[in-house]
Amino acid sequence: MLVLKAVLVLAALGAFSAALLATAARRFHVDVDPKVELVFEALPGSNCGACGNPSCFAVAERVSAGSLKVDTCVAGGQSVADALAKVLGVTGVEVEASVSVLHCGGGTRSARSYRYSGLHSCNAVARLAGGPLRCPAGCIGFGDCARACPFDAIIMGDDGLPIVDLEACTGCGICVRECPRAGSHHLLELLPVATRVVVRCSTRERVKERRESCPVCCIACKKCEKVCDVDAIVVVDGLAVIDQALCTACGACIEECPQNCIGRIDQGACAAEVSA
Ligand code: SF4
Ligand code: SF4
Repeated sequence: MLVLKAVLVLAALGAFSAALLATAARRFHVDVDPKVELVFEALPGSNCGACGNPSCFAVAERVSAGSLKVDTCVAGGQSVADALAKVLGVTGVEVEASVSVLHCGGGTRSARSYRYSGLHSCNAVARLAGGPLRCPAGCIGFGDCARACPFDAIIMGDDGLPIVDLEACTGCGICVRECPRAGSHHLLELLPVATRVVVRCSTRERVKERRESCPVCCIACKKCEKVCDVDAIVVVDGLAVIDQALCTACGACIEECPQNCIGRIDQGACAAEVSA
């Protein structure tokens, strides 16, 4: 008898809950524009936030309404832009794909101004007198960028520097926003996917100080500038800068640099090639 009563109570509770849910579903039902649904289906659905919007659905609504461009989804790149363009009947959408590039070769070789043993967070330690590195632009190496990457495109190398998987990197820029050195020093930078040669230094310190901070810093000697046949590399304000539109990736500057601080993008940090 007791069991029967319990079954009846549970059945009544179930029926009541079902009725409540059905009423709520009818009352709060919102018709979704079929176009928004189609756009949403074409998006990755990962809600990575790289485009600065709260969700892929919010992007679908805004793209459908025309308040966001068809190439808004940076993580999706050309294929997603093409899919959205097809749904919306737009033509000629070209996405300039980019990848995250590190401008530092120091890592574990960089000089320290103090010893730190606390939370392994680049953002946290950067608040303590700018961090333990003497170079104010150098990579701190606690991997906030790697942890922030929603595509697992960054791992931390044994030399304390991030290694970007160029195949996995979508150019979303989340790591750049996360890095405490990216804003003022451009330690991490989004560059065109066609980039082949990079300068692994971003400091603007005086050459004497930077030499004391890092054995593989750019010393503004201009040897790279002189050897480049197409004028793609120029020393600006004491730092070598490559014009990616002009660079032919011939490698002459890489051979010439006495600091070994220029390297090919797919070879990781150049410092790894320098003997300790
Ligand atoms: S690139 Fe920036 S976020 Fe990444 S490990 Fe270096 S300092 Fe930290
Ligand atoms: S050759 Fe190397 S050290 Fe000299 S300016 Fe060019 S990048 Fe800097």
